Amino acid sequence: MIVGVLKEPAFESRVSLLAESVTALVKKKIEVWIEAGAGVKAYCGDDDYIKAGAVLRSREELLAGADILLSIHYNDIPATFGHKILIGVYQPLFNHAHLPVWAKQHITSFSLDMLPRTTRAQSMDVLSSQANIAGYKAILLAAEKSPRYFPMLMTAAGSIAPAKVLILGAGVAGLQAIATARRLGAVVEVFDTRPAVKEEVMSLGGKFIEVPGAADASKAGGYAVEQSADFQLRQQEKIAESIARADVVITTAQIPGKRAPVLVTSSMIGAMRKGSVIIDLAAATGGNTDVTKNNETVVYHGVTIVGDSSLPSSMPYDASKLYGKNVLNFLQLITGKEGQLNLDFSDDLVKGCCITYNGEVVHEKLRAVSDKP
Ligand code: NAD
Repeated sequence: MIVGVLKEPAFESRVSLLAESVTALVKKKIEVWIEAGAGVKAYCGDDDYIKAGAVLRSREELLAGADILLSIHYNDIPATFGHKILIGVYQPLFNHAHLPVWAKQHITSFSLDMLPRTTRAQSMDVLSSQANIAGYKAILLAAEKSPRYFPMLMTAAGSIAPAKVLILGAGVAGLQAIATARRLGAVVEVFDTRPAVKEEVMSLGGKFIEVPGAADASKAGGYAVEQSADFQLRQQEKIAESIARADVVITTAQIPGKRAPVLVTSSMIGAMRKGSVIIDLAAATGGNTDVTKNNETVVYHGVTIVGDSSLPSSMPYDASKLYGKNVLNFLQLITGKEGQLNLDFSDDLVKGCCITYNGEVVHEKLRAVSDKP
């Protein structure tokens, strides 16, 4: 069997598999083909891949000869590429126009962002490995953009109070943002609609602000659910109190497949101190503020709002290392000891992230959307 690694589009610095993950596949007698230059921006040169046992190929050769194609982003797949396997992060709940085409080509596609967030899936959970980086980078970016120190300082020239950081959403990105902000010495306040995260927030040194009456998300597999209008109003009032004293706000709230909830309104931003910074990690799905622009930085009433949606790409080595490890673990799941393909659709992880198979769009969450071209 041949696994091919495609070079990502120009805007992306990551690669879907580093050389260090190639060795494990080669040991299983799986051939690994790398599109020449695929890892260069992630500091993994063609030589590194060759040393690990991979073979360099052109994009055309990969598309024609590989049995499994790895990438992070969606790629245009030629009509001749049929009856083969694609593995990536295709965000099919938002981008679904190509799904009927892939189905018609009899492509078996796995979108790793659709994996259920269960304990067994953790080693393959690309959303978590990449959101962790986004949370860390969000704080570094905020510290860089902020005109104020993060730590408390007592100097001969006077004292500096610690920065006040407000974090909205304590999932993977939010928890890493809390930890990073605390390491830099900030005081951290946190909101989340899932009371289950309170203890984790507190153990990282954050203050959890509870808004009673959130909708029960205990059956949503670790994700949030939509909230009532009444809850949203009460939450906004509480956030408004915290935001007025915050120097930095990191917003991470998402609901899978839906537009991100607007938690910070322009009037709240207008009440913030000039020079404050908001890093909106939910920019790609509409943003948690009503001022955010995806992949742009805007200044509103003296407050900088960053909507950078490719933070993992700004740390390409570690992001690729973790992404590649996630992919390797998934490949181990769908191949046998001798490297042969072993697709077991009774496995909830295999079934959970398979989007097209056997001529059909198979994921239950996608059947309805993919009917619309
Ligand atoms: P997650 O699902 O683990 O965490 C989101 C958290 O937000 C959950 O704990 C949820 O309970 C909370 N939440 C939802 N609605 C809320 C509300 N109304 N009020 C308060 N909290 C609420 O997600 P994650 O993996 O941590 O990712 C967070 C965000 O970061 C996502 O939008 C994701 O797409 C984005 N992300 C951005 C980048 C980037 O480069 N900007 C990279 C990776 C992920």
